[in-house]
Amino acid sequence: MSANAEIAKLFNQIADALEVLGENQFKVMAHRKAARMLEDLGDDVAELCKSDPNKLKSIDGLGASSVQKIQEFVATGKIKAHEEVLAKLPPGLIDVLRVPGLGPKTVKLLWEQGGVADLATLKSQLASGALEKLPRMGAKTLQNIAENLAFLETAGDRARLGDAMPIAELLITQLRAIQGVTQAEFAGSLRRGRETIGDVDLLVATEQPACVMEFFCGHPLVAKVLVSGDTKSSVRLNSGLQVDLRAVPAVHWGAALLYFTGSKDHNVILRERAIERGMRLNEYGLYADDGDATPPQQRGVTPIASKTEQDIYDKLGLEWIAPELRESHGEFEVNITKQLIVQGDIRRELHCHTTASDGLLSIEKLIETAQSRGFDAIAITDHSRSSAQANGLSLERLREHAANIRAAAAKFKGIHVLVGSEVDILADGRLDYPDDVLAELDWVVASPHTALKQTTEAATTRLLAAIANPFVHVIGHPTGRILNGRPGLEPNMKHVIAAAAQAGVALEINCNPARLDLRDALVRAAHQGGAMISINTDAHDGNHFDFLRYGILTARRGCLDAKHCVNAWPWKKFEAWRVSRGRSQVKK
Ligand SMILES: [Zn+2]
Ligand SMILES: [Zn+2]
Repeated sequence: MSANAEIAKLFNQIADALEVLGENQFKVMAHRKAARMLEDLGDDVAELCKSDPNKLKSIDGLGASSVQKIQEFVATGKIKAHEEVLAKLPPGLIDVLRVPGLGPKTVKLLWEQGGVADLATLKSQLASGALEKLPRMGAKTLQNIAENLAFLETAGDRARLGDAMPIAELLITQLRAIQGVTQAEFAGSLRRGRETIGDVDLLVATEQPACVMEFFCGHPLVAKVLVSGDTKSSVRLNSGLQVDLRAVPAVHWGAALLYFTGSKDHNVILRERAIERGMRLNEYGLYADDGDATPPQQRGVTPIASKTEQDIYDKLGLEWIAPELRESHGEFEVNITKQLIVQGDIRRELHCHTTASDGLLSIEKLIETAQSRGFDAIAITDHSRSSAQANGLSLERLREHAANIRAAAAKFKGIHVLVGSEVDILADGRLDYPDDVLAELDWVVASPHTALKQTTEAATTRLLAAIANPFVHVIGHPTGRILNGRPGLEPNMKHVIAAAAQAGVALEINCNPARLDLRDALVRAAHQGGAMISINTDAHDGNHFDFLRYGILTARRGCLDAKHCVNAWPWKKFEAWRVSRGRSQVKK
């Protein structure tokens, strides 16, 4: 775990403990905010502490006491305040907060009056009936807790973007088809394109919510209805994913979409901006502040803006901000929405596999698929010899494969076919094929696949060596992380980015939803550091080309524009760069 992730975890634990202890809410929020800032920070905070302590202090969202705790952790490996606050609780009590539906207040009650100290005692106390005498603990509530505990024991982490998105889109399409529904969208972290999703938030505009709720709660994908209300319902799907649906009248649509898309930090700034201008903003609309304590929507007040997000941003004196940017990372100071890369900017796929290694498509089928997507080029990059588990190509097979690709390419018109390889970066930084072999290829993606638990020093040296090789065009999935699977390498990205920018080597955003590597914060760091980015699906099958959207969302979260993405360059510019590193021109 990197220092950033480790310190963020401690900050979140402090916030959890403070909540259970019933302490000041502002203190709780300050710790949660600091944790989020650390998770999103591209720079390694430990290094920042040493090299540039003033920059640490200037990071938005980090108060003086958070900075001091970070410095303490970097110096000593622990945070005293963390140890002190956790010492006030039984060691496993924080875990009880992970049971869906159990908030800090209930956990406090279970602990103080129900003898619950951790997940194990929660289970035994539920079984013995000891919790039945507690206030607010009816039979139904206790049954829910037992079910949610059982669910927690079998469920994994947060859902991946690529698992949540198709389900959300399916539901949205079906909701839009219901009579009386004028709008339906997913909101929340899914709309912001985060790599993992806690639960899916759906929103519909309708004047007849009853039939929408009935349809939703009775959906064949639903395993359990958690809450069934007139305008809001929550369900758990068979896959374990929790989905919340809210129905609002069309007049409140924009305000509701804005509110439920978040992030919380973005919305806080919007509300403050409203107040500064003599208005108030909530999920119903933007209203003139008339000083009345009763919420304006309850008094029938007509909002200044509420129907669209655009209207609300307008009235707050702002241009519309893309959801991917709504993380309170400076989007209010400089709004780069219009410069962000879009999927239509992508002109070529530069990393994919055929049946020669571990892909499922033939060379011809792959070229056809790329052509059907309107691409001007495709680079075929099967695995190199050390990737035995992926049927990597020996030198002999590589030469034969190259000849097969050139023969197949001759049958196609209007698309450039690059003979490439995804070459393993070995643990010590050497590449899996010698330079004279790489020199014969049109295109080289160099990727780490093994030894992914190296130290930061070893990982940095390894990637720098690959970047220094004159035949390499792209570093593929640079960290090798798997979401909900393994953390992957933790190189010093500052050095890697600087070296890549200097050498003219692109860093990849691998669009596979299990990877999304580089992740958003590192894309931002790479973009700021002047490195080029290559967005590739790493397709092993035809439908993997659809992964592109996840890479685009990640790129947009990383503030990437088309100018810095080699897949989006006009062919001539791309070709000039490609041959400057590799061999001579490819024939069309
Ligand atoms: Zn790979
Ligand atoms: Zn690959």
